[in-house]
Amino acid sequence: MQDKITEKVVVRMAPSPTGYFHIGSARTALFNFLFARQNDGTFIFRSENTNDERSKREYEDNIIESLKWLGLDYDQFFRQSERQDIYKSYIKKMLDNGSAYISKEEPKKEGQRNEVIRLKNPNRKIVFQDVVRGEVQFDTTELGDIVIAKSSEEPLYHLAVVVDDHEMGVTHIIRGEDILSSTSRHILIQEAIGAKRPIYVHIPLILSPDRSKLSKRHGATSVDEYKQRGFLPQAILNYLALLGWNPGTEQEIFTLDELIQEFNLTKIHKGGAIFDEKKLEWVNKQHINLLPPEEKVKIIAKE
Ligand code: GLU
Repeated sequence: MQDKITEKVVVRMAPSPTGYFHIGSARTALFNFLFARQNDGTFIFRSENTNDERSKREYEDNIIESLKWLGLDYDQFFRQSERQDIYKSYIKKMLDNGSAYISKEEPKKEGQRNEVIRLKNPNRKIVFQDVVRGEVQFDTTELGDIVIAKSSEEPLYHLAVVVDDHEMGVTHIIRGEDILSSTSRHILIQEAIGAKRPIYVHIPLILSPDRSKLSKRHGATSVDEYKQRGFLPQAILNYLALLGWNPGTEQEIFTLDELIQEFNLTKIHKGGAIFDEKKLEWVNKQHINLLPPEEKVKIIAKE
């Protein structure tokens, strides 16, 4: 269903820097990167560091380093903590146009606020087309009036995401399926601020061999760990591209340039993709074989 793209493509990867760069986030970055490069688009890296307690500069640095090592260069960089004034101006706009209101709250716990800012929920059914999942429907009635800010000075996460995507002109949102359920909130906020709805592409989760969510329990989960273990960046990218996508041919080994040529958002699968380390090792061997002899010798000497 990918119609001919006529506007300039703008995509973003928007990790929260709350841990070392995860292999799943690396795949999200890769899919965004490939789509941007094949459409002469812009690839934005946005650090969603609004969660002060858990976000750390050390993790953000690790993401930047890992992207560099993988060769996924981005065109623009933003940090949410530096954009607070923009979010505040939107809170004001929403309070002024009546799409949000100051809500008096009964503090349930000591220290809790007695005022927050809520979006006036029009309580409708939201229907959108997802490139991977097809038509998706949500009844927003269950959400109630969503809290979008703790005060006119303190925006919350969902508001910041929507404002940023709007301000940055993001045309396609390619992200993990774990965020699919937040999309209805995002669409309500978009409508309240008069933002255009981007095209959504929710990619399947990466699962461990027992089909549970990939976690530390199953071995390495960060790009760094694979780097330490001697995997080549081009092999990691090649393997990640195959998690949730295949070209529909027998070809399994791709260089990054070939991936830019071949990758197709409309061929992403709906089902979860199983992370198979043996397969990654095999892909890595194929890439070692592709290296010029002098590079190959260096790698074999290290083993
Ligand atoms: N910051 C979110 C996360 O790391 C991603 C938000 C998005 O892609 O819309 O889970």
